[in-house]
Amino acid sequence: MTVTPKPLVAGNWKMNGVRASLQQTDEMGRGLDAAMRRKVDVLICPPSTLLHAMSAALIGTGIATGGQDCHAEAAGAFTGDVSAAMLADAGARYVITGHSERRTLHGETSAVVKAKSAAALGALLTPIICIGETNAERVAGKTIAVVKKQLRGSLPDGVAGDEVVIAYEPVWAIGTGKTPTPADVAEVHAAIRTELGRLMGKAEAAKVRILYGGSVKPSNAGELMGLPHVDGALVGGASLKAEDFLAIIRAVG
Ligand code: PEP
Repeated sequence: MTVTPKPLVAGNWKMNGVRASLQQTDEMGRGLDAAMRRKVDVLICPPSTLLHAMSAALIGTGIATGGQDCHAEAAGAFTGDVSAAMLADAGARYVITGHSERRTLHGETSAVVKAKSAAALGALLTPIICIGETNAERVAGKTIAVVKKQLRGSLPDGVAGDEVVIAYEPVWAIGTGKTPTPADVAEVHAAIRTELGRLMGKAEAAKVRILYGGSVKPSNAGELMGLPHVDGALVGGASLKAEDFLAIIRAVG
């Protein structure tokens, strides 16, 4: 029997949000009823400055919080960085690793992403490991090869299926309003599941939540989330407003 993991809808606020923005998460907490909570796990990853206050404000709502990045080391002379243990101490349960903006703007390789993801596990956080091709790679027909290579290089050794989340985020779809066709999303997610099976065994691979991310909005969430091997969404822009984020959660549940 195939196990279908409980879907996860995760919001990535990127470098957006100040304390006044907690109004939006208050509204999200009020809008998430018990039936939705049973069907869908919900997560917001705010900037680190908001993590502690947001985590405290969301207690009892069923919405978890997470970081957007962590350092691979537990502590030390790394000015400006945040460790996985610090995120956990501020209330986080998850952390995004290897977002394409980190891979591109901060030069993070898959080896770095693997080390950060291992650090997250060490702090009892669930890493959400992002992988995805650029437009040039897509046009060259390399999507599946690129995604598999990033997955192999970024996945910590010996990780169990329910300890990690994978987010497939085509770089060209992030923040652009463009999305791959449903058939393309289904093909890539199936390839990710197969590669996970090779890396961790089929039974563990079946437990991994594979999220789709890239211009998910209320109007396309239902179709994308209904595809095989799509176990939720990583949402950027549309996670900043309670109304839109709740509409996406409803479309998944
Ligand atoms: C993201 O940054 O992870 C993302 C998916 O952004 P958007 O939803 O805005 O495309």
